[in-house]
Amino acid sequence: MLDGRTTLTQFIIEEQRRVTGATGDFTGLLHDIATACKFIGNAVSRGALAGMLGKHGEGNDSINIQGETQKKIDVIANDVMLRSNVWAGHLAAMASEEMDNFFPIPAQYPRGKYLLVFDPLDGSSNSDVNMTVGTIFSILMSPTAGQEATLDDFFQPGTQQVCAGFALYGPSTMLVLTTGNGVDAFTLDREIGEFVLTHPQMTIPAETQEFAINASNERFWEPPVRRYVEECLAGRTGIRGKDFNMRWVASLVADTYRILTRGGVFLYPLDAKTRAQGGRLRLLYEANPIAFLVEQAGGLASTGRGRIMDIVPTDLHQRVPLVFGSRAEIERIAGYHKDYISGKDSASIDSPLFSTRSLFRTQ
Ligand code: MN
Ligand code: MN
Repeated sequence: MLDGRTTLTQFIIEEQRRVTGATGDFTGLLHDIATACKFIGNAVSRGALAGMLGKHGEGNDSINIQGETQKKIDVIANDVMLRSNVWAGHLAAMASEEMDNFFPIPAQYPRGKYLLVFDPLDGSSNSDVNMTVGTIFSILMSPTAGQEATLDDFFQPGTQQVCAGFALYGPSTMLVLTTGNGVDAFTLDREIGEFVLTHPQMTIPAETQEFAINASNERFWEPPVRRYVEECLAGRTGIRGKDFNMRWVASLVADTYRILTRGGVFLYPLDAKTRAQGGRLRLLYEANPIAFLVEQAGGLASTGRGRIMDIVPTDLHQRVPLVFGSRAEIERIAGYHKDYISGKDSASIDSPLFSTRSLFRTQ
């Protein structure tokens, strides 16, 4: 305790004490992740002063495994995560959004019992415009601890995560964390170089008046998503009986932090544009860690058709639809998907009854 404040290090050690047989490995791992996040946060905040902005390479050199343009800062952040976490002996392997294949711990280092998966810089298209970005991570137990890691080791459902979190590089640098005992958030005190517990036990309000979706994709949406959004837009005069606000930062970490703070719902649903690839966001590095945090804060995370954390991954870079936030809203959206799939929602989206049929239901 410093002036009654709890540092991240102290917090993790106290968490670990509650686990019988804990060896200090987990404390060490989280400490290394936090150090990496301080490095990345510093690079992000230096921006153009340190030559951090812009594309990584020319032409195809700048396209990653996801078919997305790599920024310089994506590559730097990925390197920092690898270097910070490779040496200490806590990990068996790592996997990242920015690497085609998983990264086994090289033979010169001791091999540990955890797997670390991460999105080194989420929202990186925002870095050039000086908006909030972050690092998302998820920790799994290696099912074959002691042996060489295999690809299959990573194919665990989100329910198996032992820890998930993200760093937020915004006006403040923050670390938001769960180990399955609720969600706690820390703010980096730059004067002492430590993350300090500032937001203990965050909870998402059950009711909300905010939704976040990329409305430019509207023509690709499925009927249940249209139905939900149209009802929000109808506001006070519609069946929801209240006005909504729309928010869309296009940086998953920033949208998530807002929802953790004051509620709301985020949708990157299955649509005609992303159907072929299964969705837009990545299950291992994005949907699972966010889902773990959101559920731990009392919210829900769904594909629209089922719980995110129940999905058994079949591919490292698997994509899924992601809908999360305030419990009552996600239950409503899941219900609309159910109606649609079961055929109860048979009205065409062009039907004049579409936006009002919840009131005038004939079945
Ligand atoms: Mn991302
Ligand atoms: Mn990224």
